[in-house]
Amino acid sequence: MKVDIVTIFPDLVAGPLGTSIIGRAADAGLVDFTVHDLRDHGLGRHRSVDDEPYGGGAGMVMRPEPLFAAVEPLRDAGAHVVLMDPAGEQLDDASARELATYDHLALVCGRYEGFDERIRTLVDREVSIGDYVLTGGELPALVLVDAVVRLLPGVIQEESHRGDSFASGLLEYPQYTRPETFRDLTVPPVLLSGHHGEVARWRRQEALRRTSERRPDLLGAIALDDDDHAFLRSIGFEPE
Ligand code: SAM
Repeated sequence: MKVDIVTIFPDLVAGPLGTSIIGRAADAGLVDFTVHDLRDHGLGRHRSVDDEPYGGGAGMVMRPEPLFAAVEPLRDAGAHVVLMDPAGEQLDDASARELATYDHLALVCGRYEGFDERIRTLVDREVSIGDYVLTGGELPALVLVDAVVRLLPGVIQEESHRGDSFASGLLEYPQYTRPETFRDLTVPPVLLSGHHGEVARWRRQEALRRTSERRPDLLGAIALDDDDHAFLRSIGFEPE
């Protein structure tokens, strides 16, 4: 996958793109990042990318000329153009998986009070990372990159993200590692039993328990079998 990021703060994104699993994926050629400094298309001596809002009001707005100059060539090269915007569709497991199917993404990071509206004519979709406002689109773009790149073939073992929260429709079951006892807190004996069937059953039930307690809305969206229903009834969960 090729990923272009358009930003006025290239340094802000460089570190995370070169670190840990995402950095290793880039080193292995599984993803190819290019970071574009929007100021290269800035106007005048100060390479300005923003101006006051028509109609007045606080803050500055990102001008269309530099944005179009940066984004149009990426779009012409076949990129799926994504505007990072609090008003966009909220990123979730399903949209991350869908974004992971593209060969080429271009992520456009806003600053100030956001974008001149006309940039929206150039983009394929707008993505928010949640109902809160950050100072810029760089961290949202990095969140999207992290969520998407880890799903690309060869980046991490497929088995390890298949059991992750949301991938199965449930929150993940509790995990434990050594030591067996820590400050009187012990590991559930079934995990030490070596009985794979019992371990799988316990994990399924604990995932159901956790999901019913924290995100009961998720349970309405997945297929549950008779054992699942029996377990949920046994813990007093009544689906809506
Ligand atoms: N005035 C805008 C509004 O109320 O929607 C917020 C602008 S915000 C301060 C500046 C930029 O940060 C946005 O253009 C966007 O690129 C990015 N941004 C902030 N919060 C975001 C979020 N939750 N998801 C995606 N991008 C976000």
